Amino acid sequence: MRIDIITCLPRLLEGPFSDSILKRAQNKGLVEVHVHDLRAYSTDKHKRVDDYAYGGGAGMVLMVEPIVRCIRALQEDREYDEIIYTSPDGKPLTQSVANELSIKKNLLILCGHYKGVDERVREHFITREVSIGDYVLSGGELAAAVIADAVIRLIPGVLSDETSALTDSFQDGLVAPPVYTRPAEFEGHKVPEVLLSGHEKNIEKWRFEQSVQRTNKRRPGLLGDD
Ligand code: SAH
Repeated sequence: MRIDIITCLPRLLEGPFSDSILKRAQNKGLVEVHVHDLRAYSTDKHKRVDDYAYGGGAGMVLMVEPIVRCIRALQEDREYDEIIYTSPDGKPLTQSVANELSIKKNLLILCGHYKGVDERVREHFITREVSIGDYVLSGGELAAAVIADAVIRLIPGVLSDETSALTDSFQDGLVAPPVYTRPAEFEGHKVPEVLLSGHEKNIEKWRFEQSVQRTNKRRPGLLGDD
């Protein structure tokens, strides 16, 4: 898989892909992540990519031209399965959206900034809009990193234990059961006996029951139709 990210603040995206699982995924050749500086596509001598909003009001708007120039330049080299815009009014990022995106070959993610991007970009060039939650961030960079992380860890071979993503929350409509590691007793608080028993069937049963109980208590909506 290849993920291209367009941003006016490329430095914000240096951290998330340079460590741990996301870095290993790139080193193993399972995913390529390329960050593109929108300013490189500005024809303005000051490399401006934003301008005042028509109609007035506070906040700048990312201009249509540099964005479209950048998208088109990237499209010359490959076809994108999705051109995603990160937006608080987009479709919420869920595990099922992440699953859907994880089987694509080329994804392009556009990060907004300031008041957002010129609406004509959204109308004519974007194939999917994704929100990471009902709150407003200063820019789409952190959202793009969240989307990329959720997607990349689902690519076969990225997680060392291949079944691991399948036992995470939401994959089966349930949240994950509690997990413990050594010591078996900490300040009088004990790890549930069954986990120390070595009895695989009982452990599996306990984990499933815990998942169901937790889902009922914490996220009952998951057991309904959503
Ligand atoms: N004026 C816009 C918010 C702009 S925030 C509005 O009220 O909807 C600046 C940029 O941050 C947005 O263009 C978007 O790309 C990104 N962003 C902010 N919140 C986000 C969220 N919850 N999910 C995904 N992207 C978000």
